Amino acid sequence: MVAIRVGLPVPLRRSFDYEHERPLAPGVRVRVPLGRRVLTGIVIEAPVDPVAGVALRPILDVIDERPLLSGEQIRLLRFAADYYHHPLGEVLFAALPAGLKRGQGVAPPKAYRLTADGQARLVSHFGRAKRQAALWATLKAAGAMTEGELKAGGQGLTPVLRALLAQGLVEECEPEDKVVPAAHAPAVVLRPDQRAACATVAATFGRYAAFLLFGVTGSGKTEVYLELLAEVLAAGGQALVLVPEIGLTPQLVARLTARLGPVVGMLHSGCAAGERARIWSAAAAGRMAVVVGTRSAVFTPMRHLALIIVDEEHDPSFKQQEGFRYHARDLAVWRAKHLGVPVVLGSATPSLESYRHARQDHYHLLTLPNRGPRRALPTVRLVDLGHESSQSGLSTPLLEGLRARLARGEQTLLFLNRRGYAPVLLCPECRWHAPCDRCDARLTVHLGRQRLRCHHCGREQPVPTACPRCGHPKLLRVGEGTERIEEALRRAVPGARIARVDRDTTASRLAFEALLRQVHGHEIDVLIGTQMLAKGHDFPNVTLVGVIDADQGLHGSDFRADEQLFSQIVQVAGRAGRDEKPGEVLIQTHHPMHPLWAPLTRLDYEAFAELALRDRRDTLFPPYAHCALMRAEAREPNLATRFLEAARRLAADSSDVTLGCVLPAVLARRAGYYRAQLLVTSQRRAALQAWLKVWLSRISEIPDAPRVRWSVDVDPYSLF
Ligand code: ADP
Ligand code: ZN
Ligand code: ZN
Repeated sequence: MVAIRVGLPVPLRRSFDYEHERPLAPGVRVRVPLGRRVLTGIVIEAPVDPVAGVALRPILDVIDERPLLSGEQIRLLRFAADYYHHPLGEVLFAALPAGLKRGQGVAPPKAYRLTADGQARLVSHFGRAKRQAALWATLKAAGAMTEGELKAGGQGLTPVLRALLAQGLVEECEPEDKVVPAAHAPAVVLRPDQRAACATVAATFGRYAAFLLFGVTGSGKTEVYLELLAEVLAAGGQALVLVPEIGLTPQLVARLTARLGPVVGMLHSGCAAGERARIWSAAAAGRMAVVVGTRSAVFTPMRHLALIIVDEEHDPSFKQQEGFRYHARDLAVWRAKHLGVPVVLGSATPSLESYRHARQDHYHLLTLPNRGPRRALPTVRLVDLGHESSQSGLSTPLLEGLRARLARGEQTLLFLNRRGYAPVLLCPECRWHAPCDRCDARLTVHLGRQRLRCHHCGREQPVPTACPRCGHPKLLRVGEGTERIEEALRRAVPGARIARVDRDTTASRLAFEALLRQVHGHEIDVLIGTQMLAKGHDFPNVTLVGVIDADQGLHGSDFRADEQLFSQIVQVAGRAGRDEKPGEVLIQTHHPMHPLWAPLTRLDYEAFAELALRDRRDTLFPPYAHCALMRAEAREPNLATRFLEAARRLAADSSDVTLGCVLPAVLARRAGYYRAQLLVTSQRRAALQAWLKVWLSRISEIPDAPRVRWSVDVDPYSLF
């Protein structure tokens, strides 16, 4: 009998050992008892030295013959669990697609190829059966294709395939264990700067190197990716492309398949479980050449992985904000390094971390000067709200610009990161404002639904007709949300076709895509929306962009507020205009003298980075220090604070590590929980890691620990 260490999907910071008659390979799934339950687990290590004096329970069942997770993946996941100080079992299960978590088998995908009869056919034989002819032609060109590849190529599968099978032209076969390079000729001729960037990266194929590809929207970064991907595929390699949550647009997908052929798998939050498992196993077996996905796709197993690309590397959605709080970009770089392959991080507004790495030569900086077809960058101007009159959030210059666009048949985009009608409902008599009874926050007025809604906990209630405190009959709706801007627009420019995009109007992907089509078809003149709109969509006929309330970002209490504001505005600006129709961006602010505006109005990232890096150095925030944030929350007031104070007292003295004070969270109460936090910083990453390990192993000694929900966030994206 040998002792076997198993990872289980439970939030416990301890290891689980079982016994079995023979050692099992790491990555194999097993069924084991835990308490009175039976769980699916994953073998981490065997044999191990079990904890002395504890009788081991037996493994009940071995699910897989061959490991489901590769050695490379297990190494990555173990590192991630260590680095983010998260229980390994949960980390292992976070990497598995839903379909495989509960121990289902992986059915080998079906593949199809032409029979001898099929090979002998001519396209003219198909007559008017155009779709059959198309599928036949695809199979003739590719040899064998799996179901998934056929689907990815947009071939309507079932009826057409069935027809070909019935005629004996197509047969089922074993999927080929190799990547079929099917790259097509590039759609464009690369410019010298793009060619140089490709050559620099390609020179490192087969070993680790990190690149920061820096260029504004439209400067041709995606064309560089396409070229690199084609080269990797031609050499029989696989590639992983990570994109932000909202960046996985039909436009990008279409470009990838047009260039690379039907070898691209998509992993995103909308993916059905079966689809996810299918792509996952095809990628693991080396059959899916390219996997494009959001955050969690960084864990996709790929036997011949040869290149990793992280597009919009600065995007906050790469950092998981709850549970296992990993950063997909950072793990991508680690993975590339330990696998010995290049990684390319692309952005118009790099994170300050990546930018500093590039300046220190840890990353190679590849710059694409803005010479794309939308060469003319938009002009950016401030509108001083202290001097300009405005109604319901729309200043006179913005309205004038908008009317001029309407007259010329051009489109306008307005941004406001606040849903609803008004963020505050106020009594003019006694100053009561509608609070959330579960959060330290005000309720937002939503007119469409006639409700007050808390944007922190989701609670809704009816809008009162009179002040609940003094009975005053007329409550004021203060401030602007997207609903109010829409209403003001309909009054100011009657007849204009106006649409609003936020989570209230366009919650589903389909609704969102339908709306984008309307904008492209110019069925809409003015689009008002939240930052949902800012990423990854090109609007060639939009020549005016208005930022309704930029001050939201100026006074953010978070250390990344400036970085976020800058990247949002650059991104927004990138939506507007083309050569023939230069764009204009109007930013409404009450603080025209703020130092951030000078680099922003010139869209000058490097000047901004200079300023922001100096600020971070003075305040000792990343990238000049490494942080970990311990958060705690509890239903009882003061309990979270008391717990963190105790944790603080437990902490070992260290000259390398600075402990902050225990502070209430920015939102000190949310959904009925009182929240507090404790920041730990260090200038040495390794020292912080070692220190955290010791500290966290002692947290369970705190008597209050079982009564609070606590977590630790390594490299927190924000201190909220
Ligand atoms: P980014 O990814 O930096 O936003 P893209 O690669 O999407 O830029 O390029 C923007 C547009 O310019 C696309 O329509 C693309 O096809 C086109 N483009 C890029 N490079 C070239 C080139 N060398 N010649 C012609 N068109 C190009
Ligand atoms: Zn009142
Ligand atoms: Zn609330």
